[in-house]
Amino acid sequence: MAANTADKIELIQLPSDQDSTGRELGDDEMVKLATAIDSGTLTSTKGQFVKELETRFASYLGAKHAYACSSGTAALHTAIAAIDPEPGDEIVTTSITDMGALTPILYQAAIPVFADVDPKTYNLTPESIEAVLSPRTKAIMVTHLFGNPARMNEIMELARTRNIPVIEDCAQAYGAEINGKKVGTFGDIGCFSLQQGKHITTGEGGIVASDSADYARRMFLFINKAWGYGDTNPDHYFLALNYRMNELTGAVAAAQLEKLEEFVRRRIAIAEQMTAGLSGIAGIKTPAVDSECVHTYWKYCLQVDSAAFEGGLDALAKGLRERNIFCAPRYIQKPAFECQVIREQRTFGDSRFPFTLARPEAVDYSREKFTGTYDALATVLVLPLNERYSSEHVRYVVESICNVAKNLQKASS
Ligand SMILES: *Cc1c(COP(=O)(O)O)cnc(C)c1O
Repeated sequence: MAANTADKIELIQLPSDQDSTGRELGDDEMVKLATAIDSGTLTSTKGQFVKELETRFASYLGAKHAYACSSGTAALHTAIAAIDPEPGDEIVTTSITDMGALTPILYQAAIPVFADVDPKTYNLTPESIEAVLSPRTKAIMVTHLFGNPARMNEIMELARTRNIPVIEDCAQAYGAEINGKKVGTFGDIGCFSLQQGKHITTGEGGIVASDSADYARRMFLFINKAWGYGDTNPDHYFLALNYRMNELTGAVAAAQLEKLEEFVRRRIAIAEQMTAGLSGIAGIKTPAVDSECVHTYWKYCLQVDSAAFEGGLDALAKGLRERNIFCAPRYIQKPAFECQVIREQRTFGDSRFPFTLARPEAVDYSREKFTGTYDALATVLVLPLNERYSSEHVRYVVESICNVAKNLQKASS
């Protein structure tokens, strides 16, 4: 009889961030795009839109400098290059993140050193970071996963004491705040992505921001092949790439930025309705948000106690997917250090460089060092959330979760 409950539900299609159902790309973007095309100037070195985006994003964020670039990965690479590690220097980071946050560390010849995460927030903690610091730590990279701020005040206190710069990966956390201050402004450099599925999008794109004139200068140069535009005797000053955003992308990004605050407001309101509807289901916990924080819900994550349900997390996810709710149990499935590139050190030819320079302890991925990470991945159910959800969509998602959970609930609990 449990199975039949599902059959009676009329399936609905939720807005998706992969197409026009869940993205607001329209006249505002078209007008700016047409202006860019009519101008005939598609490079940001001469055009207006990328500059406009940079100025407006800096002021939106509350940072002195911002530069656009070609992707979130490029943004993180640019941030690391600005900090300029020596080969073999260590960058403390998280293993529950996008690979685009990790490969730039290796391209700059530094070693990613993974700290454990809090299994409730999926974020690094000051304690887990401190546990892996070494004399070779050159930077700390903090990801605000799913839009939930990490404990930046304490992390910055730790980092400042040791004089270690901090990069914030805000790819999933536009608009997130701690005590009214936006993430991306606590550390030395904030990085953002404009990839298809982020809060605002241009398909691909990225932004870096900083208050430091020195980092800003190096970031500008790194994005521009380190060519000293505007200098009296310009040269290519150091090893760098062309990571520029073009004007077409800049035009769309400038239009999207105008909608960001509204998207963030809607996402928070939708998440609050979901939390209200989902509280009190045995075996399921709604997102853990510190009271001084604003979580901006790139995704909406449930923490599932598999033991409470027949078939555990997977059965729950299957039931939701059958209702067109395309959730992801275990998010990225495995910690990043279990991916081939890192596990087998597939880097430059057969050299394994820069891993050849690593302290053995820095590349020791023993399971017992990452209990929070494995626990987090074993319990997390990532639900899609979109600013275009109507109250009917929210009701559908909440009811589906309640029904699927009830049908699978073990009698004993
Ligand atoms: C999306 C994402 C990135 C990479 O951004 P791209 O624009 O896809 O290169 C990096 N870090 C996190 C946390 C992300 O979500």
